[in-house]
Amino acid sequence: MASYQKVKGTQDFFGLHSKKLRLLEANIKKTAESFGFQEMKTPIIEHTEVFTRSVGDDSDIVSKEMYTFEDRGHRSITLRPEGTAPVVRAYIENKLYGNGNSISKYYYVGPMFRYERPQAGRYREFHQFGVEAIGHGSPLLDCDVIISAYRLFQKLGISHITLKINSIGDFESRSYYRNALEVYFKEQLEGLCGDCHRRYEKNPMRILDCKVDKENPILKNAPKIKDYLNEASREYFSEVCKILDRFQIKYVVDEGLVRGLDYYTDTVFEYIMESDDELNGLAICAGGKYGGLVHELGGPDLPGIGYAFGLDRIISILDTQNKWGTIDTSIDAFVIGLDPESKLMALEVANECRDAGLIVELDYRSTILKTQFKTSEAFNPKYFIIIGEEERESRMITIKNSQNKTQERIAMSMCASWIKENR
Ligand code: AMP
Repeated sequence: MASYQKVKGTQDFFGLHSKKLRLLEANIKKTAESFGFQEMKTPIIEHTEVFTRSVGDDSDIVSKEMYTFEDRGHRSITLRPEGTAPVVRAYIENKLYGNGNSISKYYYVGPMFRYERPQAGRYREFHQFGVEAIGHGSPLLDCDVIISAYRLFQKLGISHITLKINSIGDFESRSYYRNALEVYFKEQLEGLCGDCHRRYEKNPMRILDCKVDKENPILKNAPKIKDYLNEASREYFSEVCKILDRFQIKYVVDEGLVRGLDYYTDTVFEYIMESDDELNGLAICAGGKYGGLVHELGGPDLPGIGYAFGLDRIISILDTQNKWGTIDTSIDAFVIGLDPESKLMALEVANECRDAGLIVELDYRSTILKTQFKTSEAFNPKYFIIIGEEERESRMITIKNSQNKTQERIAMSMCASWIKENR
């Protein structure tokens, strides 16, 4: 008989792992909602062009990492590799910009797909949480978005992270910078990878995002964007820094932090992990302002800002930093029936308790007390409800505390409310 394994780079979530993902999502959603972000759910599949137009067709994501296929109607479809483009597509398609005077704030959470080499903290199916604030651009909004990520990490109890920020300037500053890079890289092309040669032709700024040449001194010595910022961009960035200072958010200005895509403008940022294991230096959150993306995808000329972070990495970090606290994996009650008729009554009692909001399990196979206690071990119940002939006839059940082993007899009809009061 054939036996199958999961696709490389994917994960099965069950037991405690799945509980952690659910807990994390619930915590994050709560904080995001307190910042005014509302949930947006977009499809997992999109027309491929949504990503080629936005992420850029010579980016690593588009050129090497997308799961793209032709559907039966001969359309090119892609499993989403990231969440910003789908949210912006939905924002435009549903005309959520209204009259153009409002700010729309969304968060999303769900699986993303990239054909990357699986390694620590890197999967082919991974889970991202992200926010997008679209329709306005100001240092105040940028900082509120950056702070929301900071607060999220703080609320999760994650420590040892560094915020790196930079400005990549407005469209004018970027065009000065692009010219400077063109001149600089023209002389240095020999020393760069094949992909960078192509990037040079399309947009030399993308060379700065190259993973292969990351440590190459040619990249390290390249002109820095800060020397090409115009007055407006310099002021914008200095305002962002001032606001972060005012809120005592520690940051490092990283002049090498860029987003090579044309639609990114002004503020870019990352939160980086500091630790003494393999997670050290890993970006756990990346974001930036996009002055031109909404327009690029066919919408009005409105800016937005957003970020995304990987939940899988957050789970590893919370594991490493031992920050989960106690995760309650117990159930409220396990109902034991000591003969076939009592088993039916056990099911009745279980369902009454479930209706009252309790988590209740039972053994479907056995009427033997010892066997049922054995079965219950996998569920870690707070209480046992025991029903035999005598309980059935008197409609008084025996309820036993699994910790201190004390026992009480109570009316069957009071069972759910008694457990609720005493759990
Ligand atoms: P990006 O969309 O590439 O800027 O990534 C944003 C965040 O998503 C990263 O900082 C990671 O936390 C997470 N991430 C990106 N790619 C992966 C992956 N292949 N596996 C797990 N997490 C990822």
